Amino acid sequence: MELNHSGMIYFALKEESNQVVHISEMVEKDRGKACECICLCCGHPLVAKLGRGKKTAHFAHLAEEGRTTCSADEANESGLHKIAKEIVCKSEYIWLPPVTISEQNDPDRNVEDYKQQEPLLLGEKFKLHYQNAKTEVPFDGFKPDVCIFRERKNILIEIAVTHYVDAEKYSKIKMAQMPTVEINIADFIKDYKEEETDSINDFEKKLRNNLVENVENKTWIYHPSENEGIKKLCERNRELEIEYQQNRIKILKEQEERKKREEQQESWIQEQQRLREQIDVEVERLHTDEPYYLSCKAKTKGADTAVLNCINRLGIYNLRFKTTDEIPFFLNIPVFGEVVFNCDRRIWQTILFEKVFYQWQYDDVNSARIYCYFAGCREGLLNPKFVYIWKKKGKVKFSPEEDLLRCAIEEYLVHLSALGFIDIRYYFYPYSGLNHRIMHRSLKPLRRNYATFLEGLLMRFPDTNSPFQYIQEKWISLGKEIEFIQNLDTL
Ligand SMILES: [Zn+2]
Repeated sequence: MELNHSGMIYFALKEESNQVVHISEMVEKDRGKACECICLCCGHPLVAKLGRGKKTAHFAHLAEEGRTTCSADEANESGLHKIAKEIVCKSEYIWLPPVTISEQNDPDRNVEDYKQQEPLLLGEKFKLHYQNAKTEVPFDGFKPDVCIFRERKNILIEIAVTHYVDAEKYSKIKMAQMPTVEINIADFIKDYKEEETDSINDFEKKLRNNLVENVENKTWIYHPSENEGIKKLCERNRELEIEYQQNRIKILKEQEERKKREEQQESWIQEQQRLREQIDVEVERLHTDEPYYLSCKAKTKGADTAVLNCINRLGIYNLRFKTTDEIPFFLNIPVFGEVVFNCDRRIWQTILFEKVFYQWQYDDVNSARIYCYFAGCREGLLNPKFVYIWKKKGKVKFSPEEDLLRCAIEEYLVHLSALGFIDIRYYFYPYSGLNHRIMHRSLKPLRRNYATFLEGLLMRFPDTNSPFQYIQEKWISLGKEIEFIQNLDTL
């Protein structure tokens, strides 16, 4: 250790008592030669310079001896070492740390596992009581700083200021199988030097704390239970390794599963995106390519007998139709989105009408509810080529407004509104998403003029891919819409 010293001596030997003293023990009457101390390094007399103001108190060689080759570091080190040994010897107890088995003792430990990189502590720190401790007791080829004599096993204390236990001493200690603790007080001189004079008085108290009370600066250099501890460390690490490997496999599996889920999710999203785009193209074509629209619509048209049987099986309001002519005209209204259905429009419009007006559990109607009914329960009715239904966890998400199914339902409901089955406000605000009151539950339209108009129009209906627009234009051109508006005002 490098001592960046100021050349000041803090420790000296009191000639009379042969005791090492620290400068902080010197009082006013010890000033100068009165301290009666000699140098721990060269044995020459010293004076106590007690300092004034901010000056640090210290010992110094006599001025008349001139410059000396004596080392203040050596004197301080030897003084601190001697004082420390005395403190330990005079104490009746000492706190000792648990024996620490370094993880380095297990070469097979898994360095990836932080738990195996921890040292193994044998027991806890403990307070050792003793009555008999001596310094400089010779053992086989070495002299420990302090030997604490005990009935069963003596304990050796090494105090390190600048000299730590070296390999040679360690092997001798190990040979003798003597439990040995090293106390490091190297920081002590340094600390003391850096501090102000008023803390000098705490010097002995602090030193004693470091030697006797604290365990932070103490390590077992050797302990007979070391071998057993190494065995325990290895056993611990083998167990930890099993845990580590199991955990690793678990994590790998989880990662794999997550990756798989993410890939599935990703491909699902891509597939949905692809479907959506494909359907958008189809819908666009239905709008712009009338012959294509008409050919698609023709495919949904069913044979009269089949339609009749199907409707009668549904049993709307327990009615039975003998011929297709008996089927009310408002169960056969052309709407643009109708090609999404895989069946004749008379069938799906009957289903819708039945659901909305005969068996509907609500007093009002909402196009989203009907949408979910068809999309969720009646998927077989729909042609997947034209309709995109976004489903997740069994729930149907309402599609955007350009969706064909929604378009078919809303156009149809507008006519039902004009016919007086639903609140007339639906006629004006079909896309509001609001609930509209059901006005009438029978097979007779309330608003006769619209019924007459529509029934007549349907009898000579042209082939077109914009049936809704065609009907609206005709109705507006008749100038009858004003009646609806008046109706709306009185509501
Ligand atoms: Zn000297």
